[in-house]
Amino acid sequence: MRYAILGDIHANLAALEAVLEDVADQTVDRILQVGDVVGYGAAPREVVAIVREACLLVVKGNHDAAVVDELDTRTFNPNARAAVDFTKGALTEVELAWLRALPMTAMNEHCVIAHGTYARPERFDYIQSTEDAEPSLDALPRKVCFLGHTHVPVSILRLEESPLETSYTIDREIDLKLAHRALVNVGSVGQPRDEDPRACYGLWDTITGRMSLRRVEYDIDREADRIRRAGLPSILADRLFLGI
Ligand code: ZN
Repeated sequence: MRYAILGDIHANLAALEAVLEDVADQTVDRILQVGDVVGYGAAPREVVAIVREACLLVVKGNHDAAVVDELDTRTFNPNARAAVDFTKGALTEVELAWLRALPMTAMNEHCVIAHGTYARPERFDYIQSTEDAEPSLDALPRKVCFLGHTHVPVSILRLEESPLETSYTIDREIDLKLAHRALVNVGSVGQPRDEDPRACYGLWDTITGRMSLRRVEYDIDREADRIRRAGLPSILADRLFLGI
């Protein structure tokens, strides 16, 4: 089975379209989405429609939760809050109901997915160290868990040869067959923050074990224009060019 795993699309239509074009060339069987379908970007309706159609499993991110009033936006910076308000106004009741119904975690025969952590997904904590990762690694009902939230791709692993040791790697190619447990952050489709502005997503082959993080160029000008025309804070357009 070949999976494409998309995270943090954030209503960036041009990035999502470019990623799905790349996915189409990779003979993928299933597409998963690890949360934050909306927020920051200016095309929430289009992106929700595509994700509903294309993704087999989708979990709820903190921006998705904020848009349906399940998370207090006082914890958000003013730019993020402006985008939440814009998104609330843009989506229909049916689209909002779909966001509201998203689960915090999802699982199938191969893996689990969550947004921030697997252990306490409703808290939307950030995994930024191996220490932060331990409770989620301990709790995994599958060998592999895909996450998003930080917008920075990284894999945190306990290897089969030393299952009591936790390490991390920023390698773009890893062999998940060697893992006893793995948390893989697939980066962000719609707002990368690792200073590489190209859209990022994960590709995983369950037979070979090969996991790759792919980077895809997209028309940032088009999406930045859409953000400015929507009246959203211009920083949300500018940052896309910088990958921050
Ligand atoms: Zn996000």
